[in-house]
Amino acid sequence: MRKLASIQKILATEAIKDADAIEKATVLGWQLVIRKGEFKAGDLCVYIEIDSVLPDKPEFEFIRARSNRVKTVKLRGQISQGICFPLSILPADCSIEEGLDVTELLEITKYEPPIPANLAGDVEGMFPNFIPKTDETRVQVLQKVLDKFKDTHCYVTEKLDGSSVTFYVKDGKFGVCSRNLELKPNAENSMWKFAFENNLEEKMKGLNKNISLQGEIIGEGIQKNKYKLRGQDIYFFNAFDIDNYSYLSVSDLKNMMAVLNLKMVPVLDENYRLQNSLDDLIGKSKLKSLLNNDTIAEGIVIRPLEEINDGKVMKGRVSFKVINPDFLIKYDE
Ligand code: ATP
Ligand code: MN
Repeated sequence: MRKLASIQKILATEAIKDADAIEKATVLGWQLVIRKGEFKAGDLCVYIEIDSVLPDKPEFEFIRARSNRVKTVKLRGQISQGICFPLSILPADCSIEEGLDVTELLEITKYEPPIPANLAGDVEGMFPNFIPKTDETRVQVLQKVLDKFKDTHCYVTEKLDGSSVTFYVKDGKFGVCSRNLELKPNAENSMWKFAFENNLEEKMKGLNKNISLQGEIIGEGIQKNKYKLRGQDIYFFNAFDIDNYSYLSVSDLKNMMAVLNLKMVPVLDENYRLQNSLDDLIGKSKLKSLLNNDTIAEGIVIRPLEEINDGKVMKGRVSFKVINPDFLIKYDE
């Protein structure tokens, strides 16, 4: 779970050119605009990340006109992500500790985009517990991971903005799941439709193992069809060996895509040595989509060529996303 609101240190403040009333602050790996003099480097604050939905309370009155939602904005040419509040917004009995998660305490929830009807479908059940759900952590909270794995050989794919889909074959059963649920067979549902049209059940059963494939469905009726596709399509980013409870390496994923005649998410760089500078990484995320040169890419996903399960500086596999700030501004997110 993301810490949408937490106690954090102001790491630095910096003047913004031609602005007297505001300045730039750095919190974790995020940069945001604050009122000049409100905080100084070293101060603790309550930092609230983008995608937060704030409750109807007097201290959050100012954001009601924006549906209570914290979004990426641009002020005087400066990208600003998140909001800093003084510690005084916390209840008096709250223990003040850097890193403390205060999301629930402040009744903050996460903005979730509505699910279009063609993806909703009839629910068969919970997401299977033998496959990890798809997810990617934001690089802005991973400086320790970047430092630890600096220079590791990685590959970089384009992050596509659609909806997550999981297909699996386990002990002879074929299943289709959206981000959080398993869905009943139904040709009206875009994910099942893809499976039927691509003989996916037969193809996956032909692999003779318990396996899952996970990808992003994009196209008409999904996330404003930013890539302007006709119809819909799925681009895969994970192959998961259910019996070993482990992901296949990227080379095995690629081979599997070729064998099954499926598409992998666009690969931008196959031999990238991880850098630990956030500015460089965010620079790398600012690109046009490989699927449509007129569309700003949502960003990139970076993973080591050989899976790393560190278990210390990061829960789960080492894999993360760098979202393109220009994309967030353009689509008002
Ligand atoms: P957050 O965790 O930041 O609050 P979120 O959980 O809704 O937001 P997304 O922004 O949807 O996360 O990012 C994670 C999702 O990105 C994955 O679940 C997956 O469906 C999708 N995705 C798209 N392209 C890729 C890719 N190239 N590699 C991995 N995942 C990708
Ligand atoms: Mn997530």
